[in-house]
Amino acid sequence: MAQLPVPSAVAAVLSDLGSVRIWAADFYRDLHSHPELSHREHATAAKIAARLSASGVEAHTGVGGTGVVGLVRNGEGPVVLLRADMDALPIAEATRLDYASATTVTDEDGPQVGVMHACGHDMHVACLLGAAHLLAASRSSWTGTVVAVFQPAEETGDGARAMIDDGLAGLLPKVDVALAQHVLPAPAGVVGTHAGPTLSAADSLRITVHGRGAHGSMPQASVDPVVLAAMIVVRLQTVVARETRPGEPVVLTVGSLRAGTKSNVIPDHAVIELNVRSYSEQTRVATLDAVRRIVDGECQASGSPSPADYVLFDHFPLTDNDPVTTQRVAAAFTSFFGDRSGPMPAQSASEDFSDIPRSLGVPYCYWGIGGTDPELYRRAEQAGRVAQDIPVNHSALFAPVIQPTLDTGIQAMVVAALAWLAPPPAAGQ
Ligand code: ZN
Ligand code: ZN
Repeated sequence: MAQLPVPSAVAAVLSDLGSVRIWAADFYRDLHSHPELSHREHATAAKIAARLSASGVEAHTGVGGTGVVGLVRNGEGPVVLLRADMDALPIAEATRLDYASATTVTDEDGPQVGVMHACGHDMHVACLLGAAHLLAASRSSWTGTVVAVFQPAEETGDGARAMIDDGLAGLLPKVDVALAQHVLPAPAGVVGTHAGPTLSAADSLRITVHGRGAHGSMPQASVDPVVLAAMIVVRLQTVVARETRPGEPVVLTVGSLRAGTKSNVIPDHAVIELNVRSYSEQTRVATLDAVRRIVDGECQASGSPSPADYVLFDHFPLTDNDPVTTQRVAAAFTSFFGDRSGPMPAQSASEDFSDIPRSLGVPYCYWGIGGTDPELYRRAEQAGRVAQDIPVNHSALFAPVIQPTLDTGIQAMVVAALAWLAPPPAAGQ
């Protein structure tokens, strides 16, 4: 298929990529070696702010804790928000790379754990810093404003919300579109877009059901919360099987069930923790409503002495790419990347990025970039062993190859941003 011509602004902005990729790769390796957990990205944020300043980008720090906002103001024109997340995970790295993390932390009550950039957020940061630098260095090629948001605590699902609650909107001119990307286990060098629901909404629910404790030999004196909780777990299986339209993707998993201390003591309560993944708000609400109805019904059937307690936690919103925005990004990608750009299937993972555009009332697009050595990926594909042999995000072996992942991520951010930014006045005649 013939490629569309690359807009001249894209070529002009990317002309200095050769020098940027050198420091951006060093920056990436440094972040990878020194990961920080959610809400604790202090050194990461300081490095980002210093790099933005060196690139001539106005930097605001301490937004929502450790968040950093870079602003490239360049006259009248569209305002494009680009976002990267920057937190790492409590995983001991097993990649054996020479820049692998040896960082450990000790939680207040827990054992020492390794810390690793196992989700590629270090790559997201390096790509956005590179893109912001290139856009700031070529102001004569475009007009408008680029907002580079470095968000903390994506992994805990509350970093975007923390920035919003801390007044992110007040720092910015009126935003027109928000864009973000994630490195995935696909061949490095490729980019993929998906219109509509792209990442699932996720909700975790902790339910405490109450019974009446008694001696194990005297069940008549008890309301047994172990039997009650067991009934609930079984009955919950009917929510997807019997209440959800066939073909509607929804997952309801009870991941934890705790009750009692001893074989001959009937305890007085049980705790159920479950996780729901859904791709529409309607399904999400219907599923959570069904859970409550079943729990309340089973409690009543058991003669439970008090109503169940519900705590909703680890909520991630649905990532629902705006079709028109996605079409514009996809067209720009096809024009630049040619057959390295294509459709991406919806992912079962979740993200809190969309909290930002939702709070600003603007459309958004979230796309994927490959991070796996293309040759390794090709061999795994030929052997039918992609799932077994290619490390996925959150694996102790997950680390993108630096190139061509870094170039592709920088280019994708620049190309997508320039699909909105206006041409300079002279070029617009
Ligand atoms: Zn992750
Ligand atoms: Zn991630």
